[in-house]
This record gives sequence, C-alpha cells and structure tokens, in this order.
Amino acid sequence: MAKEKSLYLKRNDGRKFDEVRPITAKVGIVPSADGSASFETGGTKAIAVVRGPRTLHPQHKQDPRTGILRVSYGMMPFSVTDRIRPGPNRRSEEISKVSEWALNSVVDLSEFPNTVVDVFIQIPQADAGTRVAGINAAAIALAHAGIPMKEMVSAIGVGKIDKTLVVDLDKYEDSDFHDGEGSTDIPVVITSRTKKIALLQLDGKISVPELKEAIELAKKTCEEILKVQMKALKEANRSEGKKK
Ligand code: UDP
Repeated sequence: MAKEKSLYLKRNDGRKFDEVRPITAKVGIVPSADGSASFETGGTKAIAVVRGPRTLHPQHKQDPRTGILRVSYGMMPFSVTDRIRPGPNRRSEEISKVSEWALNSVVDLSEFPNTVVDVFIQIPQADAGTRVAGINAAAIALAHAGIPMKEMVSAIGVGKIDKTLVVDLDKYEDSDFHDGEGSTDIPVVITSRTKKIALLQLDGKISVPELKEAIELAKKTCEEILKVQMKALKEANRSEGKKK
C-alpha cells in the first residue's frame, strides 16, 4: 500500500496502512431500549440506542406515507482530554444529519406511517472516526430493534497522510502533525448488498485517482466491519433466544 515517494512511511501505532484498529461490537447493551449496540475501534467507542417506532409529536410533523428516522449524535463531556461542552453544537448537528442520511438510505419505515424512530448515538471515548463508529453502532441497533432494513451499512474512515493512503485514522493521524502534505480524512459508508456509497465526506485534498483508490480501500475494509456487525447480531439473537 505504501507509495515509493511516501513521506509517511510508518504508522505511529505500528499498523499496516490498510489495517483497522481492533474492532469489537456488542448488541443489547441497554435492555430497556427497543434496540441497542456498541461499536469500538481502538480508542474510539460509540453506543447507539433505538426507540420506536412511536407516534410522532407534534402531529403536523407526521408523514401519513411513512415513519421518520431521527438521529442524534453527541460526544460525552469526558470523551476527550479537553472537556466537551454538553449539548448540541454545529459539529454534532452536522454529524447527526449525515448519519441520518446514511441510515435513511437502507431503513424502510413505510409500514409505520405517522411515527418516528429515534436513534441516539453517544461517544463515551473519542480517538477520531467517531461518526463512522456511531453509524456502525446505529446500523446494528436498528437491526436489533427489528426495524425493516433493505440491507445493512458499514462505515470506515479512510484517508491520505502526505502521499500514503491509510485506513481508520486515529486522532494523531487525523491532525496535521507533520511537515508533508497534511492529512485528508474521508468517512465512507457502504451498503452491504448493493455495495453503494451511502455517505462520503472529504476533509482535505486528494486527486481523483487517489480518491478512487481510497473508495476501494473503504469498500474492502467495510467487508471486515460487516462481518463483526453480523457476528454481534447473531450472538445477541442466540442469547436472547435462550432467555425466551
Ligand atoms: N475531537 C475533539 N474535540 C472536539 C471534536 C473532536 O477532541 O470537540 C477529536 C475527537 O477525537 C474526534 C476527532 O477529533 O474523534 C476527529 O473529529 P472529526 O470532527 O474529524 O470527526 P470524527 O473523525 O470523530 O468523525
């Protein structure tokens, strides 16, 4: 993966350029919720809780043709060393919206007119890649809640540090710490069956051929992530089946 002229020759944590941090996923972490899951990559942890479908209030916001998906993302005050101010801000509003768009591309709420399905994503620990970790957790939590989905989604951050393409940037890599061309962060969400891009954001600079290569890297990595998501769902089905 390393290019010959790359300035970024070795990752600070020793990973290969196409290697994700250790991933874990767990389903059913909040038993009182309709669906819940956690998703972790290295030092980034996300939890997602699903409530609904419930009748949407106020009534004028209801859609008689379909239910509505509503996503709220937030970082907990202690999730990074500098305390985060509680409550919404521009960044959290943006991430809530883009997460909602990505999940909306696979969720089908046509069976539940006039309702809302709420997805609450919280980040108790952040080391970059929180929006993609949140989307991974939310997708599993929606499936756990039994919300009809056309397919799953898996998400990963890919990027470019100087001239090198890398996967799953941590906070050190995400920051412009070096003298080279700087770092480019590209969160990507891929649908599980049709392999479509449900979300792509770009923070930095990249050429078209490099972007194409980065998308291929994201698609390949999302296959790995999907396996972890599906395994977590199967484990939950097995243990919840035993309790019944
Ligand atoms: N971050 C921070 N304080 C903030 C927002 C972000 O320290 O108020 C850190 C956190 O580790 C986060 C990273 O910066 O994961 C990258 O943030 P970005 O906005 O690029 O989104 P993310 O990569 O988390 O989706």
